[in-house]
Amino acid sequence: MKICTEDIRVSFQAHEILKGISIDAKDKEFVGIIGPNGSGKSTLLKCIYRILRPDRGAVYLGGEELQSMSVKSSAKKMAVVAQHNYYNFDFSVREVVLMGRSPHKKTLERDNARDYEIVEEALRTVQMGEFGDRIFSTLSGGEQQRVILARALAQQTPALILDEPTNHLDITHQLLLMELVKKLDVTVISAIHDLNIAAAYCDRIYVLKDGQLEGCGTPKEVLTPEMIRRIYKVNAEIAYDSKGKMHILFL
Ligand code: ADP
Ligand code: MG
Repeated sequence: MKICTEDIRVSFQAHEILKGISIDAKDKEFVGIIGPNGSGKSTLLKCIYRILRPDRGAVYLGGEELQSMSVKSSAKKMAVVAQHNYYNFDFSVREVVLMGRSPHKKTLERDNARDYEIVEEALRTVQMGEFGDRIFSTLSGGEQQRVILARALAQQTPALILDEPTNHLDITHQLLLMELVKKLDVTVISAIHDLNIAAAYCDRIYVLKDGQLEGCGTPKEVLTPEMIRRIYKVNAEIAYDSKGKMHILFL
């Protein structure tokens, strides 16, 4: 499913945070958004996953304008792994993942055996199969992140929005998560702060700085020493390993 944004503008008080952002992700494309802290990545994603209504501009999911869709129908199309997930209630891990099934239910329709199967399968996929009975709030940050991904998987959507999904994760689970998301073969838009992760998994990358797009292209086109110096103010070199995979070395 294709996703695009058209001239998204967001201001908080007198401060313009997004200054007209138009991006698009083609069907099954993996699109990364990179940029320094505070550049507006999360704000842009929030407009896409509908937690923030932009002052101007529009978001289209599969050609349909987001604001004209019901929340339920957009939730059938797009699942989200956001940066912070606060649960004040003592939900079990299984209950949190089961929430992913709710867009597929009619009002008051009970969860059925198939829903529970999907939930257990999603938990196993993120290697949290043993954690179903645990209270979500007692998990470590990395475990919580994987449960939230399991919830997104249980939602079975053709698009996934991720905000720095590998934060909190050790290297094993960073790679596990990225490999898993890549294999899903759905449309992905993800903010990514690790440029090597972005290089390894993105089909295309948008560079955001001070609420404006500063570049767009394949990892090879975008992740150049010049761009990295301009955007992040650090010197870097690009190296290729024996398999032809690119690596960014920070000097
Ligand atoms: P990033 O995800 O790229 O680090 P954010 O989108 O979170 O950046 O934030 C972009 C800018 O918008 C930051 O300067 C941040 O302080 C500001 N900002 C984000 N949300 C709000 C808000 N609700 N009120 C005021 N300023 C905000
Ligand atoms: Mg952010």
